[in-house]
Amino acid sequence: MSEQSALNLLDRINGTISVVGSMNADYTVTTDRLPGPGETVNGGALQILPGGKSGNQAAAAAKIGAHVQMFGAVGSDDNAVFLINNLDNAGVDTSHIRRVLGPSGTTVITVDAHGENTIVYSPGSNAQVSVEYVESMREVLGKSKVLGLCLESPMETVTACAKMCHEMGITVLLNNSPFVPSLPPELVAAADVLLVNEHEMAQMLGIDEPSDGDWNAFDWHMAAEHMQKYGFERAIVTLGAEGSMVLDSTSDEPVKRIQPVKVNAVDTTGSGDAFMGTVLAGLSSGLSLHESASLASYVAAYAAAGYGAQASYGTAAQIRKAFE
Ligand code: ATP
Repeated sequence: MSEQSALNLLDRINGTISVVGSMNADYTVTTDRLPGPGETVNGGALQILPGGKSGNQAAAAAKIGAHVQMFGAVGSDDNAVFLINNLDNAGVDTSHIRRVLGPSGTTVITVDAHGENTIVYSPGSNAQVSVEYVESMREVLGKSKVLGLCLESPMETVTACAKMCHEMGITVLLNNSPFVPSLPPELVAAADVLLVNEHEMAQMLGIDEPSDGDWNAFDWHMAAEHMQKYGFERAIVTLGAEGSMVLDSTSDEPVKRIQPVKVNAVDTTGSGDAFMGTVLAGLSSGLSLHESASLASYVAAYAAAGYGAQASYGTAAQIRKAFE
């Protein structure tokens, strides 16, 4: 697919999706080096940015034109207002998000001068996204064509939600992140498409990574067969600056490389979520998995060229302008 035709796919984004999961306030401080155990180091100014994998995915999809319903829980603190306002501004429907007592989901992030980081995730209100809540949203969820799930919410809720939506004929896209090596069989059965990065794929399938780090020479047909045996006929494996691979045993082209889009990458935080949000938006708008991944390459590259997660996401017009 030529550059122009992949970008033109932005014109077709008009589907309705639901994203069920996490929203976090990311507390980020830069330091020259990461502190060791028991050590205090000086840091730069604290930045509080909107994050959480599901919130990011919802924001990315809404900004390129999808109709997005977000489901999850925020706390009773000021971060709750901050998180909801950011999603509202991105165009996400936040009216079904629950407010619960206690702190919202939070991550505490330290980044050193080389971009190396440590992240501590405190689920807060995300832990209260319950099976009952998801079941109470059945009718509203039923309005969407595609559902996005990641694993920052309780596994029993993710599994119940996937099952319920799959049974309603909604396409379920699962992001196995934060990574869980062995997914519950019920969740695998209910998920239609898997999204993972290359390291997660290798661990999940018990395959060795290339010793020289060169994924070009990797046997992707073998990976696709393993993926199918694991239970996923359709999967996308992201490869950072190297682009992505679409493994689709149901298509004429079971293994297809999606080229990366060249940008001056300054911060890849949340690029994977921008990619996932775009695939959700694409599938809900009638694009194929290959088309959705080709478009996602642009949307994620745009995100890698800006700082932060949601803060770096572009609208359809901004992304067009950047690459045309
Ligand atoms: P994260 O959790 O940091 O968001 P991830 O491991 O889930 O990352 P990656 O594989 O690093 O996801 O990146 C997702 C997609 O973003 C890639 O498939 C690619 O399309 C795009 N991308 C990432 N880094 C770059 C880059 N340096 N240049 C261009 N595109 C990039």
